[in-house]
Formats: sequence, C-alpha cells, structure tokens
Amino acid sequence: CGIFAYMNYRVPRTRKEIFETLIKGLQRLEYRGYDSAGVAIDGNNHEAKERQIQLVKKRGKVKALDEELYKQDSMDLKVEFETHFGIAHTRWATHGIPNAVNSHPQRSDKGNEFVVIHNGIITNYKDLRKFLESKGYEFESETDTETIAKLIKYVFDNRETEDITFSTLVERVIQQLEGAFALVFKSIHYPGEAVATRRGSPLLIGVRSKYKLSTEQIPVLYRTCTIENVKNICQARVKRLDSSTCLHAVGDKAVEFFFASDASAVIEHTNRVIFLEDDDIAAVAEGKLSIHRIKRSASDDPSRAIQTLQ
Ligand code: GLU
Repeated sequence: CGIFAYMNYRVPRTRKEIFETLIKGLQRLEYRGYDSAGVAIDGNNHEAKERQIQLVKKRGKVKALDEELYKQDSMDLKVEFETHFGIAHTRWATHGIPNAVNSHPQRSDKGNEFVVIHNGIITNYKDLRKFLESKGYEFESETDTETIAKLIKYVFDNRETEDITFSTLVERVIQQLEGAFALVFKSIHYPGEAVATRRGSPLLIGVRSKYKLSTEQIPVLYRTCTIENVKNICQARVKRLDSSTCLHAVGDKAVEFFFASDASAVIEHTNRVIFLEDDDIAAVAEGKLSIHRIKRSASDDPSRAIQTLQ
C-alpha cells in the first residue's frame, strides 16, 4: 500500500543512513494502512560488477521491520555506498495472506536478480502465472505481484540483444499487465539504476541536488514543481508536449531521488516533485532521470497479450 525508494548517486551514505531514510519514508506512509513491510538493499559486496541484493521482510509494523534490519549479521551498517538504490514497501494484502513470503519486495528467483515493489492489483495475474509456470518459473508466494518479478526475468532471459536497457524490460512487462499498479524495480543486472512506472496507482519522484538541474530532449514542455507547502501538492504536475523528459544534475554531479506513493514521504527531503502519469516509465541511470510515456498495446485480451510474449 505504500512505496518508498531512495537512490543516492555520488552522495556517499552508510548503510545505516540508507536504512534510516527508508524506514522513515515507510513511517510517513503508515497512515495509509498495511499489514507487513519489507526492503531490498545492496549486499556488502557492492564493489562487484553485479551487486548482490538482500531482502528483509516482516509481517507487522514498520518498527518490527526496523528491528529486524539491525539483527541481520550479514549487513555491515558502517559500509559506505557512493551510489545505492534501496526500495521499501508496506503491503496491504489483496492476494495471499499477510506473511513474510507474500510481503514485498517480490523477487524473480532465489538469486534476487530482479526485485519489485507494487501497489495495486494485477487482474490478469493468473494467466501470466500459468504462462510463466509453463516456462519453468517456480513461484513461492500467493501474490499477484510475484508474476511481475518473474515476468521481467522472463523478458530478460529471452532478450534478443545483450545491451537491452532496464527501462525497455519494464516497458515490455507493463505491456502485459492488466489492472492497477505503481511499481519500482531494482536489479543486480543494472547496479545503481532504478525504474519506476504506474497505471492507476499513484507514484511520484522527488529530486534533490545542490547542483543546477537541467533538462534535455527539447522540445519538451517541462516543469518540475517547486512545492511550497503540502497544500499545493495536489495541483503540482509535470506537463510534456512530447513523450520524453530528461532531467539531470549538470556535470553529472551528486543527486538523490526519492520515489514514493505519496508526497508526505518526500517533502522533508525536497520540494521538487514530479508526479508520474499513467504509463510513464521513469528510469535513473548514471544519475540521470528520464521519463517517457509508453504506447499501450491494443489488446484487452490477456491470452492475446501472452501470445505476443512467446
Ligand atoms: N496486490 C499486491 C499484494 O497483495 C499489492 C498490495 C498493496 O498494494 O499493498 O501483494
């Protein structure tokens, strides 16, 4: 029911600081209601080309998750990440009882190659799950969300080129989804990158940098909203003439991104907020945020959508 994710790009942060930011973000969203909570962060071996991802999930309050985080022997709290992407979630169960396995992040496989957090409901998840099971993907939860984690791995495993981007994978995944979703993805194959998208469920991105932010890909009618106070938040919107917006800190300087289902979780960090609209895909790579709107496939029939995957 609540999404919060935090990317620090060239802004050194210890794991402890990252935990604190994620937990505080979730606490700001607690009022939305939830039954369990979880996070995905990088493992200690973050110098490796493909970073290992660690999941910590817990039924109950965010406070219980917080305590659980500090109990993890494998996680050195002092380790510092120059660039890191952490994702966090509070779940209000719609498919599958509240327990640790069903909480988010959901994962593609035991190696945590792709992890995802989701608000909303995927209405065609049964068909997708059947399709993926027929391809040998083994499910561990009862959630609709797990199909998304498996589906992105399926698209990745069957990619036609080595250099496929993270946002292209997500684009192909959401072409297959019916229902409502706000999603944030993290992957060991794309270290230091983030992809977020939505349809029906809210999602916004806060940006903080002490350096000047610039836009590329003109012509674009673009405006990050400077939010003076919480009352204005609902009116704030990004408007675009064409389908893409690209935003980066000039000189590839330090920048931080906050992804949240609600502005109340980011307002303490920044007043520059971009509200995503339906079928927007926002991707951060090398400290640069790009947003584009996808064209949806015409098919309303999930079995036809699955055929296009095969
Ligand atoms: N439908 C998903 C689940 O039951 C997400 C629920 C939510 O929005 O928290 O796991």
